[in-house]
Amino acid sequence: MFVSDACALNDAGHLTVGGADTVELAERFGTPLYVMDEEKIRRNCRDFTSAINKYFHGNGLAYYASKALCCKAICRVAAEEGMGLDVVSGGELYTALEAGFPPQRIAFHGNNKSEEEIFLGVEAGVGRFMVDNADELEALDACAAKLNKTVCIHLRLSPGVDAHVHDFIKTGKIDSKFGVAIQTGQAMELIRLALQKKHVQLTGLHCHIGSQIFSEEPFVLATQVMIRFMAEVRAQTGLLLQELTLGGGFGVRYVPADDPKPLDVYMQAISSALETTCSDTDLPVPALFFEPGRYIVAAAGVTLYKVGCVKEIPGYRSYTLVDGGMPDNPRYILYGAEYDVTVANKASLPKNYLTTLAGKCCESGDLIQENILLQKPQRGDIVAVLTTGAYNYSMASHYNRLPNPAMVLVRNGEAKPAIRRETYQDLLRNDL
Ligand SMILES: *Cc1c(COP(=O)(O)O)cnc(C)c1O
Repeated sequence: MFVSDACALNDAGHLTVGGADTVELAERFGTPLYVMDEEKIRRNCRDFTSAINKYFHGNGLAYYASKALCCKAICRVAAEEGMGLDVVSGGELYTALEAGFPPQRIAFHGNNKSEEEIFLGVEAGVGRFMVDNADELEALDACAAKLNKTVCIHLRLSPGVDAHVHDFIKTGKIDSKFGVAIQTGQAMELIRLALQKKHVQLTGLHCHIGSQIFSEEPFVLATQVMIRFMAEVRAQTGLLLQELTLGGGFGVRYVPADDPKPLDVYMQAISSALETTCSDTDLPVPALFFEPGRYIVAAAGVTLYKVGCVKEIPGYRSYTLVDGGMPDNPRYILYGAEYDVTVANKASLPKNYLTTLAGKCCESGDLIQENILLQKPQRGDIVAVLTTGAYNYSMASHYNRLPNPAMVLVRNGEAKPAIRRETYQDLLRNDL
């Protein structure tokens, strides 16, 4: 009955997440509140670890793309589940290291790493640098030379595969700020450059073809393009690349109409494309890496708000105003993202009231969903927005000086705090 199986209904008619009553959570921890079902996150991690065993003979690793939701508690869960971790900034790297994440299982991404970030990564001994461009390659080699180290790298390439998704999250095409394209010849140039560098060891190639992908075809196409290119690299340079990273992008269900295929379908298709293309090109099958972000955390998360006012404008529409908005969930204003919403304390009642869920910021676009059906809300009700585990907290701002909400991890009905609610003093911490 809910888009995510992290959610259910209890005897009180309340929405539960990970077995905990959301109305009680809102009372105990306050609102807005991010609630994460820890068991669901772990199950999602295991989907990947077991798929890698089943379809790739254990020859690979799933890096959790921590940009989707980065905090120490989540890094620890990913570490315990045997995942790798993908970071794209010094801040994400620092968080991972402070959480005790094994550096060897970290991949350092980002299309414009600073000297300082490169230094942090090399010094910490991250397992792989995902190099985006020639300038970065030069800087990385220089830094590694200074620290007398050799770093293992993948090069980020655009395979030119269009994943048919929203323009903002389409990243596999030639005209992109990410990586270098195969078709323009720049990818081969970057490989030749990498081969001249003494302090980097090029072990593999990377591509990321988009986000929220619902079918296996774009992944199959990308696999074929990348393997053929790896064969081309061997022919032209003699270098045998033994690793391939296929990025993230595995779709999740935000609203009932979303229908992503089960992970097994993607994995089966990728593995057969991999075997066929490798045998066609006479290339040994490389280790396969993935970087799921949204898939790991999105459906495990729910945001709870308290209703302040319900405003009816005759002849127009009604607004249900809650105590958060674009600072804690900027995805509607950014992408028009869809969500399933329910009144948590009336979750067993029919949704028959047409309303627009809006936040409390001084911005007309500060909406969470427009024209949705909800159980008739009133002041004091708890509204739950489902599938908010990815790109909500991680994209949060302090607009209107709203303190960032707290986050709790729920497991077997027990909640433990993961992120403290910000205070007004926190907001002033850096004010001079
Ligand atoms: C954003 C991103 C991911 C994660 O994407 P999801 O759609 O959240 O799975 C993985 N790899 C790279 C390089 C990315 O930019």
